[in-house]
Amino acid sequence: MTDLGVAVAERRAQARKLLGRRQRTVATAPRLTEVLRGTLLERYVRCGKAGCHCQEGLGHGPILYLSVTLGVGRSQQITIAPEDQTMARRLVHNYKRIWEILEEVSTINRELLQRRLLPRAEAETASHARPRQRRRRPRRTPDP
Ligand SMILES: [Zn+2]
Repeated sequence: MTDLGVAVAERRAQARKLLGRRQRTVATAPRLTEVLRGTLLERYVRCGKAGCHCQEGLGHGPILYLSVTLGVGRSQQITIAPEDQTMARRLVHNYKRIWEILEEVSTINRELLQRRLLPRAEAETASHARPRQRRRRPRRTPDP
């Protein structure tokens, strides 16, 4: 193979490697419907009832809260029912994971762009894209 041929083959291999990594990264992404922004906090509370055991020790709990910032100086806290805790933890984790994945994919795309390996045709990037319908050529009928 010529030097040029080797260089082209190497570039193709690099591109394939990066595109493969990008595809594998995206494949691990949680569903976009299963996300929740916020921080989970556990707290113990004292109910204030006379003679309640919570007056000693940690208090009632742990009670799980979701704390979410809604703007400058604005935040909301929601108490999470015990039966929703597993799902809430999962959604909060997914939210962070999706940001990590976006960052990873963006880094790969930056590398592809910098090395001028970024695929330009949509077909190369969207493997799950709808296959193009083949157009059938109308059959010519012989003139009468
Ligand atoms: Zn109590």
